[in-house]
Amino acid sequence: MKQVSYNGLTFVPFLERETIAKRVNEIAAQIKQDTPQGSVPLFICVLNGAFPFASDLFRAVDMDAEITFIRLKSYEGTDTTGVVKQVMGLSEDIKGRRVIIIEDIIDTGNTIKRLVEDLSKMEPADLKVATLLFKPEAVKCAVNPDYVGFEIPTKFIIGYGLDLDGMARNLPDIYVLKNDK
Ligand code: IMP
Ligand code: MG
Repeated sequence: MKQVSYNGLTFVPFLERETIAKRVNEIAAQIKQDTPQGSVPLFICVLNGAFPFASDLFRAVDMDAEITFIRLKSYEGTDTTGVVKQVMGLSEDIKGRRVIIIEDIIDTGNTIKRLVEDLSKMEPADLKVATLLFKPEAVKCAVNPDYVGFEIPTKFIIGYGLDLDGMARNLPDIYVLKNDK
């Protein structure tokens, strides 16, 4: 693995695909263990960034399950206020369902907080959050993900779904911005 460049910025290797795959399998096993037998959970993949993680996690979960997709966009007016909008809304009725949200990353926490609030109003039987990455030092609101792949420092990363202005989502490994202190 060597460094990559996008928009004149240089990124260095951070998490290799094997490391990610191992952790995804561990989370899948944990989800299976936490799901009551006979119940069929509904995974909700948050587009765009979570699609590689969701694809791998969903196939690693060895039980009956369904998946659907939602697309969010966050417009940040200031550092502390994040307004999150459903661009592609949920078509399924989740009332009484066991729901697991699949996110790529929790940064300030605004996106996931808003989504959890919205989905809670639809009265799921259970609502859990699985995020591949979590920046605990960046979180600005009360968020408590149930499944976390990796806790990472407050640095900008790309790859495995995470983008820089739409690019780099197709990198199989995760990279971090060089000299980002
Ligand atoms: P939030 O701040 O927790 O609401 O995160 C909003 C969104 O910002 C995430 O879903 C990602 O799409 C994006 N994001 C946050 N941190 C990074 C990063 O390090 N690289 C790329 N995208 C990021
Ligand atoms: Mg995202």
